[in-house]
Order: sequence, then structure tokens, then C-alpha cells
Amino acid sequence: MAYASVNPFDGKLLKTFEQLTDEQLEEKLDAAAKCYATWKHTSYADRARIVARAATLLGERVDEFARTMTQEMGKRIDEARGEVTFSAEILAYYARNAEGFLAPEKLNPTIGDAHMQSSPIGVIFGVEPWNFPYYQLARVAGPHLMAGNVLVIKHAGCVPQCAIAFEQLFIDAGAPVGLYTNLLISHEQSDKVVDDARIKGVALTGSVAAGRSIAARAGQNLKPSSMELGGSDAFIVLEDADLDHAIPWAVWGRMYNTGQTCCAAKRFIVVETIADAFLERFSAALAALRAGDPLDEKTTMGPLSSESALVQLLGQVDSAVAHGATVLMGGKRVDRPGSFMQPTILTDVASTNPAFRDEFFGPVAMFFRVKDEDEAVALANDSDFGLGGSVFTADVERGRRVASRVETGMMFINNISWSDAELPFGGIKDSGYGRELGDMGIQAFVNKKLVRYAKVEAPV
Ligand code: NAP
Repeated sequence: MAYASVNPFDGKLLKTFEQLTDEQLEEKLDAAAKCYATWKHTSYADRARIVARAATLLGERVDEFARTMTQEMGKRIDEARGEVTFSAEILAYYARNAEGFLAPEKLNPTIGDAHMQSSPIGVIFGVEPWNFPYYQLARVAGPHLMAGNVLVIKHAGCVPQCAIAFEQLFIDAGAPVGLYTNLLISHEQSDKVVDDARIKGVALTGSVAAGRSIAARAGQNLKPSSMELGGSDAFIVLEDADLDHAIPWAVWGRMYNTGQTCCAAKRFIVVETIADAFLERFSAALAALRAGDPLDEKTTMGPLSSESALVQLLGQVDSAVAHGATVLMGGKRVDRPGSFMQPTILTDVASTNPAFRDEFFGPVAMFFRVKDEDEAVALANDSDFGLGGSVFTADVERGRRVASRVETGMMFINNISWSDAELPFGGIKDSGYGRELGDMGIQAFVNKKLVRYAKVEAPV
């Protein structure tokens, strides 16, 4: 069963869902295309009424939405509530700001006058991951619906209840039929959707493998795409850093969402004079976390999203060790029911170890000692990924310098405030291309049309 809701806290199967037949898929694509024919002509105010209403409803139903997420993929309940609230804020942000972001932009040619006009392009296909089951949806729904596009979404196989709840949210908000459609489809059907002439753009958030497959398909079809893929972000600690400030960020950066975040801190790169002190405090803080029921507010570490995610992560740790890495702490599943992984620190990960270039999607930190700032930057840049990263230092100017030298899409100085409705999010290299959120996020799937008036002689 491709779409099944299983609680990773106890392994219980909650619900299964049938995939769409090809006929049902065709009906949904047809409805989306028909919806676009009218939605593209609606005013920003009319679009905003529906998107803002969805934001309000989400804000009113935080507990209900959060609980579904916690049961389906194991996110601790306070983090789940935070995600639902943030998703509502993203929808509200675009309802408020879309018209301003897409207003005609005056150009200043030497002859005549000209402007850029922004218009929607059609039905956009989104493929989304389970690790932020609503936030990822809000990140595409807010901007693209407000731009006048229409969405069909394939969510991850393990979070069908979240996927359906988000679709229902738009129905409850008064969305016309076809405006936002959840598709319970296979990968093969997904390929057909990318190929379908009614689809005008593709937005994927997920693994590098999925990105390569969907981006290649979109490219074959000459369709614009945005790819938000994996990461292995560096957490750089310079010798002048305040460890009282850096350690809580290090724990949060690695352990938030049980480490299953694309831009989580995954490689801890610490200047040697401070490395022992950092490691001692970091490992003590990780050891203090307690695995438990993610619905219980007192739990400090939830399960991974699924048993298969745990098995994959354990395999990656074993492979890292087989290639010479040392397990400083953890490395095993927690001895209790459910898909729990011990907080883990790996050291001695040589650049020849396959783990060096891997993404560990869970509570596994790689730790590196470096001589100085230059070595820290060189190591941070020795990665196939380029999503985000952070630097901790007492000298903010130094932090800015390091931030500008690290080759990623985002850098944070003395914090890791990853995501903000107002600020663009995305990466380079194997972390993908394009940006979501902020003003840039709404520009991904609009036609930027040049309109020029000039009183010039007709050619003879
Ligand atoms: P995944 O296996 O790539 O799945 C993501 C989505 O893509 C799911 O809906 C999945 O559907 C679908 N998918 C995968 N292969 C596909 C194919 N060949 N054709 C059509 N659809 C396909 O990734 P994941 O394990 O769920 O998510 C974790 C990854 O996402 C990590 O690498 C993480 O870093 C990345 N991520 C990136 C960002 C960002 O903004 N950069 C944010 C969050 C997560 P099924 O579930 O049905 O296979």
C-alpha cells in the first residue's frame, strides 16, 4: 500500500488509502485546468479572501492538525503546533503581500517606456516530503495560489492524512473546485502528470534522487521547476564563540524534528582550541534527551518518521564505521518499542569515507576539529550539498566574512533561524535550485512579460 499512515511511536497502522486510478487522476487534472481558466482572472482581493480564510481556519484548528501530524510521522507535539501556526502565518503573509510583490515593475529604457507585468502560468505540480507535512504545503500554496496559479500536489506516501487535511482546509475556506488538489498517486503516475500538457511548472521538495528524476522529466518537457533538496549543513564554531550560546543552538540545530530537517546542522566544525569543551558539553546535552511519546509534552526526543527511515539511518552509521569512523556516543536504536534512534556523534570521518558526503537524516552529528577559520571554511565547502550553514563567533563582522565565504544558499550568524515567511529559502549544488518564501518565492511560476511602448519609425 503506497499511502499508509503508521504511527512510528508504536508501529500501529492507523489508516490506508487507495491510490487514484488513471481515470480519477484525469478527472482531477481536468478540474484543475478548468479552475485555472477562471482563477487566473480573479482579483488579488478575491484570491486573498480564500487564502487568508484558510490561514484563519488553520490558526483555529492548531491542535487538531498538530495531532494528526504527530501520530502520522512522530513530530513532538509542541513542534507540531509550532509548524501548524507557522504554516498559517505563511498563508496569511502571501494573502497580504502578493499584490505588492507582483505589481507591474517600471523599466527605464532610453526610448519610450516599458514595464514588466507578472501573470500566472497555469496548473503547477508540487511534490512534497513528509518531514514538514503542512509547512511544505503552505510554502507552495501561499505564493502560487495568490499568483493566480492552481495547484495539484503529490504528498509523501507516509502522511496521507495530513495531505487530505490540508486539501480539506482549502475546501472549507471556500476554494473553487480544482484550486488545490491532493493526488494520491504513484511515481509512474507522477511522471505522467509532469508530462501532461496542462501542467506548466513543477516544484519538488525532497531527496536528491527524487530531484534528479523529476527535474530531468520537467526538463524534457521544457517546464520550469524549482528543486528544494537535501543538505549537510556546517555548524562552524570559531575559537571566540560563546559556548553558552552555541551549545543550545547545536542541540536544537541537530535534534529539532528528531534531526529530520533538510537544513539541520549536520557537520559540526569546531576550531581545535575550543573543540574539547564543545564536545563535552554537546554530548552531555544530547545524552540528557529522553525518548518518549511525542504526544506527551514532557518528551524531549520523538521517534523517527518511520521504521524504514530508522533502518536506513542505522545502516548509514554502520557503513560510516566500517569505513573508519568512530562512534563517540549512540549509534544504535533505542532499546524500547517504536522507531527511536539514539542521539549519535561520529568522529574520525575521513574525506574518503562515503559518510563524509552523505546526508544523515536523523539525530546523527558528524564532528570535525579544524586548525582555524580558513580550515573551517574549506571543510564546510567540501560538500556536494549547498543548502545552509551557520557560524558562531563573538565578532559579528568575522561571522559575516565567514558567511560570505561558505558556498550555500543560506548562512546564519550566531543562530539557525532557518525559515521565515519573509525570507527566501533554498540552496545550490545538490541542494537544488530556486527559492521558496519571501518575495522570491512567488516569482517562481509567473510569466514576467515585457510590455514596451515606443514612438519609433516603422521599419521600411
Ligand atoms: P523523497 O523520498 O525524495 O520524497 C519526497 C517526495 O518525493 C515524496 O512525495 C515522494 O513520494 C516523492 N518522490 C520520491 N521519488 C519520486 C519519484 N521518482 N517520482 C515521483 N515522486 C517521487 O524524500 P523524503 O525522504 O520524503 O524527504 C527527505 C528529503 O527531503 C531529505 O533529503 C531532505 O533534506 C529533503 N528536504 C529538503 C527541503 C528543502 O527545502 N530543501 C525541505 C524538506 C526536506 P513517495 O513518498 O510516494 O515516495
